[in-house]
Amino acid sequence: MATKQLIAGNWKMNGGLAANQALLEALLAGIGQPGCDVAVCPPAAYLAQVQGLLAGQEAIALGAQDVSQHDNGAFTGDVSATMLRDFGVRYAIVGHSERRQHQGETDVHVAIKVKRALAAGITPIVCVGETLREREEGMTEFIVKRQLSAVIHLNGHCISEIVVAYEPVWAIGTGKTATPGEAQQVHAVLRAQLKAATEHAERVRILYGGSMNAANAAELLAQPDIDGGLIGGAALKAPDFLKIVGAAA
Ligand code: PEP
Repeated sequence: MATKQLIAGNWKMNGGLAANQALLEALLAGIGQPGCDVAVCPPAAYLAQVQGLLAGQEAIALGAQDVSQHDNGAFTGDVSATMLRDFGVRYAIVGHSERRQHQGETDVHVAIKVKRALAAGITPIVCVGETLREREEGMTEFIVKRQLSAVIHLNGHCISEIVVAYEPVWAIGTGKTATPGEAQQVHAVLRAQLKAATEHAERVRILYGGSMNAANAAELLAQPDIDGGLIGGAALKAPDFLKIVGAAA
């Protein structure tokens, strides 16, 4: 197990100036000195606001939900890793299944995005995971290994600097959670793949994501190869998110 767990909240395309402020004030009031690393990933439009609200404290870091695969130039709508860095972004979610599904992101795009993030000093949170159909066809291991392998291939020895998030697509936003045993099984596969690529695989944090909540977090986070959580819905409710943070070692 990696030394310090990471709990990251993916706000997705939710929030607004007033809601963000209320959520962060509640988080900051309740978080104390967490026993794990904590990050929130607001929509890009609110990075400056959230950076301001997080100023002067170290309990909660700032994350982004995506990063461009390009450095700069004529890429309308994209936000580059160096731009994210300008706003104090420490983590960037890369290859979330919603982006793979709706924005057509491929394993190659994801691998390049990881490279851009690392070059800017941002820790990418690389999402991998199978659909329900792929699970039913017995393809889970093949799919997650293929997705991670593209990232390893392009990023070589830097791979020990990433965070991986195993997010079964069928568990995201559905209320269906992988059982701790099912999740651990896939995490062990990912750990073995990392071990074959780097001698520092033990320090790579492998998060679980997919309907993690205040009630199921402790059991998931107790699994030997689960080093934290990527939280969607429950990250928008301060008491729930704080309970998950409290459940992390
Ligand atoms: C996610 O979107 O990364 C996620 C895990 O969502 P949820 O917790 O809502 O399933």
